Amino acid sequence: MSLRTKFMLALLLTGLAAVAMVGGLAYAGMTKKVDSLRRERAAEHFHAAVTAYLAQYDWKANHGKEGFDDFMLSRGPLAGDRPPPPDGERRRPPPPGEGRPERRGEPPYHFILADQDYRVLLGAGVYEHGELLPEAARKDARAVEVQGRVVAYVSPEGVITPSKQELQYLAAMRDALWFGVSGAAVLALVLGVLLSRGLGRTLGHLTGAVRAMHGGSLLQRVPVEGKDEVAELAAAFNAMSEKLARTHEELSESHHTILTQAEQMRELSVRDALTKLHNRRHFDEQASSLFSHAVRHKRPLSVVIGDIDFFKKINDQFSHATGDVVLRQVGEILRGHMRLSDLVARYGGEEFVIAFPETELPQAAALCDKLRAMIEAFPWHQVHPELKVTMSMGVYADLAAGTAEAMLQKADALLYRAKETGRNRVCFAA
Ligand code: GH3
Ligand code: MG
Ligand code: MG
Repeated sequence: MSLRTKFMLALLLTGLAAVAMVGGLAYAGMTKKVDSLRRERAAEHFHAAVTAYLAQYDWKANHGKEGFDDFMLSRGPLAGDRPPPPDGERRRPPPPGEGRPERRGEPPYHFILADQDYRVLLGAGVYEHGELLPEAARKDARAVEVQGRVVAYVSPEGVITPSKQELQYLAAMRDALWFGVSGAAVLALVLGVLLSRGLGRTLGHLTGAVRAMHGGSLLQRVPVEGKDEVAELAAAFNAMSEKLARTHEELSESHHTILTQAEQMRELSVRDALTKLHNRRHFDEQASSLFSHAVRHKRPLSVVIGDIDFFKKINDQFSHATGDVVLRQVGEILRGHMRLSDLVARYGGEEFVIAFPETELPQAAALCDKLRAMIEAFPWHQVHPELKVTMSMGVYADLAAGTAEAMLQKADALLYRAKETGRNRVCFAA
C-alpha cells in the first residue's frame, strides 16, 4: 500500500471516528434528556389530569358519561405540543370535524393508574384492568389526593410516544450527524490528497537524488518546500550531498597529488640527477627482461658500454663544473639518437651503457661509431676553447653469455681493449 493511501486512510478513519464519537454521544445524550424531560412533564400532566378528573367524577360511577380520555383532551394538549389557549378562555374539547389528533393517532403517553386499593384502572398495555398492582410497581406509585383523601395511585411506568415535533427534532439531529460524517470524509480525502501530494513529491525528489548519487553524481539538490520535518530532511540531504561532493572532490585531488608524487618519486628513483638519463638500477632491471625476451624469442640484442676518455683530466684541467657540463651533453647526444625501444643509462661516473633490442652486432657497432663520432664532433670549444671530448666503447651481442650482466662484462672487456688500443674507438665482438 502506498504512503499516500495509508495517509488518506488514517485521516479518513480519524475524521469519521471523531464525528461518530462526538455526534453519536451528543445524539444519544440529547435523546435521553428529551425522553426524561418529556416523561417527567407527561407524568406531571397525567397526575394533574387524574386529580382533576377524580375531583369531579367517581371513576366507576362515571363510566359511560365523560370518559377519562375525553376529559384529558378537554384539558388541552401536553405543554409544548400545542400553544396554550389565551387566558380566561374556557378549555373545551375541539368541536367535531376540527380534529382530535390524539384520538386519530397514538396518545402521547400511557401511564398506569390504580384505585386506592391498587387495582389497575388503566394498564397502559402492561397490566390488565382490575389486576392488583404488584408490590414493586407500588413503590414508585404517586398518590392522587382529593380533599385530603387518597383516591388513586399513578405509576410513572408507562409508554411515552414522542411528539411529532420531537421526532422531527431527532430526525434533524440524525441528518446533521450524517452531514457531519460525510463532511468529515470529504475533508479527510481532500486533506489526504493535498498533504500526501507534497510529501510524495519531496520523497520522490529524494529517491531520485539518492539514485543519482549512487550512479556517481554526488552533488544533488532537492527543492526545500515549507518548514516541516520533510523540509528539514530535504535541507539536511542537500547539506549532506554538498559535503559529500566537496569531500569527494578534495579526496580526488589529494589522490591525484599522491599518484603524481608517487610517479615523480618512482621517476626520481630510476633517474640520474645530473644527466636525467636512467640510472644503473633501472638499467640492470630492464636489461634482464630485454635479455630474457631476446632469448625466449630468439631475437638479437646488443649491449654497449662507453667511457669518456681522460675525463679526470677534463675535471682537473677545466673544473669539475665543466666535467658536469660534458657529462650532461654526452648524455643528451646519446638520448637524442636512441629509438623508443632502446635503453640508455648513466652507469656511474663517466660511464654510459646502452641496450639495443632487435639489433645485430654490425648494426649496433655502426650506430656506436656514429655516436662516438658525434661526441667527438660536438662543438666543445663553446664550453671551453681548449676542450676536446671523445668516448671509447665496447659492444657485445652474443646471448650465449648467459645473462645481461655477463654480456655487459664482455662489453666492458671490449671497452678496455678500446682504451688499450688508443681510445676514441669502438671495439666489438659477437
Ligand atoms: P680513461 O680514459 O682511462 O677512462 O681515464 P679517465 O680519467 O676518464 O678515468 P678515471 O677513472 O681515471 O677518472 C674518472 C673521473 O671521473 C674520476 C672522477 O672524479 C670523475 N667523475 C666521476 N663522477 C663525476 C661527476 O659526476 N662529475 C664530474 N665532474 N666528475 C666525475
Ligand atoms: Mg671510467
Ligand atoms: Mg674515463
